[in-house]
Amino acid sequence: MLKLTQINKDFGNGHGLHDVSVEFPANKTTVIVGPSGSGKTTLLRTIDFLEMPDSGQYEFDDLHYDLSRPLTKQEVLAARKKLGIVFQGYNLFPHLTVLANITEGPVHVLKQSKQDAEANAMSLLQKVGLADKANVYPDQLSGGQQQRIAIVRMVAMTPEYMLFDEPTSALDPELEVEVLKVILELAKMQDSIVIVTHNMDFARGVADKIVFVEDGKIEYQGDPEQFFAQPTPRIQAFLAAGT
Ligand code: ATP
Repeated sequence: MLKLTQINKDFGNGHGLHDVSVEFPANKTTVIVGPSGSGKTTLLRTIDFLEMPDSGQYEFDDLHYDLSRPLTKQEVLAARKKLGIVFQGYNLFPHLTVLANITEGPVHVLKQSKQDAEANAMSLLQKVGLADKANVYPDQLSGGQQQRIAIVRMVAMTPEYMLFDEPTSALDPELEVEVLKVILELAKMQDSIVIVTHNMDFARGVADKIVFVEDGKIEYQGDPEQFFAQPTPRIQAFLAAGT
């Protein structure tokens, strides 16, 4: 279980996170939604300390950190080892083939044999329909294909939680669908997922839990049914704005 309690982050310009307490249940998909600039990405990045809060409590299984003191490198790494993240843009290594992109982490960090890592990578590539691309370089792939490879690369590291920061916002709608399908498959397998998205249809379809962020605060967290079927006036205004 991953839990943040009373997290504060002040960017010095009025923006940030204010007294944010939120739980991300294991083996569930939590979807973070909210207006543009509300703090969704900041919240997600706080989970793996790409954004370092000013104060609050961080609990992740056996890791319990008080964030009002600086964390050590080891403490940050201990959390990051259990997390995988896929960003908006494609972050593949351009000079490595698809296969090498996927096996790099498992071989060098997880110390898998090259043979095992490649066999696993090929089986994952098969699952996302890209086995025939194993030996090409990222620039020969469409944005949607690159993003599917980025997801496979994360899955190959067997993280405990998978974090997605608007993974399809750089894609055309027809390419978005193929990426969302892969995430939906991961969700069906009961992986622990936290995803920031603007796609409300997808959020409704995939979420076990919705977290609604507004002005750096959590305005709702809980059941997706209630969020969509009985929205408060603020949520209703957000949903009607179609962001
Ligand atoms: P979007 O949906 O547009 O991606 P978001 O909800 O993910 O937005 P964040 O990216 O978390 O929002 O940003 C929240 C607010 O904090 C924004 O107003 C942003 O400009 C501000 N902000 C984010 N990072 C910094 C920073 N490093 N320094 C100053 N302000 C920042």
